[in-house]
Amino acid sequence: GQCVAVCPTGALVEIDNVSKVWNELADKSKTVVVQVAPAVRVAIGELFGLEPGAVVTGKMVTALKNLGFSYVFDTNFAADLTIMEEAHEMINRIQNNKKLPILTSCCPAWVKFFEHQFPDLLDIPSSCKSPHEMFGAITKHYFAKKMNIDPKDVVVVSVMPCVAKKYEAERPELEYGGVKDVDVVITTRELGRMIKEAGMNFLMLEDSEYDNPLGESSGAAQIFGTTGGVIEAALRTAAVQLTGGAIDKIDYNEVRGMEGLREATVEIGDLKLNIAIANGLGNARTLLENIRKGKSNYHAIEIMACPGGCIGGGGQPYHHGDLEILKERAKGVYAIDQSQSIRMSHENPYIQDLYKEFLGEPGGEMAHKLLHTKYFEREK
Ligand code: SF4
Repeated sequence: GQCVAVCPTGALVEIDNVSKVWNELADKSKTVVVQVAPAVRVAIGELFGLEPGAVVTGKMVTALKNLGFSYVFDTNFAADLTIMEEAHEMINRIQNNKKLPILTSCCPAWVKFFEHQFPDLLDIPSSCKSPHEMFGAITKHYFAKKMNIDPKDVVVVSVMPCVAKKYEAERPELEYGGVKDVDVVITTRELGRMIKEAGMNFLMLEDSEYDNPLGESSGAAQIFGTTGGVIEAALRTAAVQLTGGAIDKIDYNEVRGMEGLREATVEIGDLKLNIAIANGLGNARTLLENIRKGKSNYHAIEIMACPGGCIGGGGQPYHHGDLEILKERAKGVYAIDQSQSIRMSHENPYIQDLYKEFLGEPGGEMAHKLLHTKYFEREK
């Protein structure tokens, strides 16, 4: 699997996990739980002849139920959870003026890049696991317990726009109590193949809803699928916490866009936060080299390896770098955000319950055990 780690655009041969998922589904001793990343639902329709950006969440959920998954959940739930942890970390570091800028950590291709190229900066990325890994930990140690299932009998399958997530799921530290967070990763294209292999007519499927409790999410979670979305989601929640709720907006249009390298100054109360957003690792390198030289005045930086962020991931229907396709997918992402009644992660009632019942406080002991990780220096 070396190629998957260095090849976020999927140009090299990737590991095929379709038969692995069919085998897990056939094993009746297992509870097979599936989660779907935000970028998948605005692109998978293209595999069935729909336009880029068509939102097909309901049909996709029906297809997953038909395939035989025991529970169809949403990575967006865990994106809300990521924001709870990451906003907490961000506020803490900004208020104490330490280890700035904070860098987002949900893109495994980017994580691997900085481990190889910038080992002297390993303490500045957020310690948050990526959303699908958080999801795996919560499924196995919270949901399974609720359902009286042994975590060892639970299989977590992630449907991702991403090829690098396959390598990420095999990182040995992404586990708890000897149980891996995520068992199998398939891409958007692989899910499309499974739907075709099962003989379903995707376009004719009715809509269904995600299962609960790990299927509920905010609009903030959905925008993780596009460049600028993770930092915007974090800003929404951080602004409420920093101002005690006296916010005048939810949308941060200043961090949106498709350019590979962007910056914005965001005012929250008395604070002026300098934000940078990069998609593409070449752009990330420029930012990191400035930090290394002490020439950076950013508070927070979002970095995604793929063009446009995860909507342009290497596991998506092929887009050949066509900016028009990526823009349409981004529109789909923002349309879902706008359509949600809850648009900030901390308002997700199931997230609130999860902290009350199980996790305690953001950044607390249990959260650290299950939701945070470490980075390692790697050979160049
Ligand atoms: Fe995967 Fe998204 Fe990173 Fe691309 S930007 S490598 S799809 S996590």
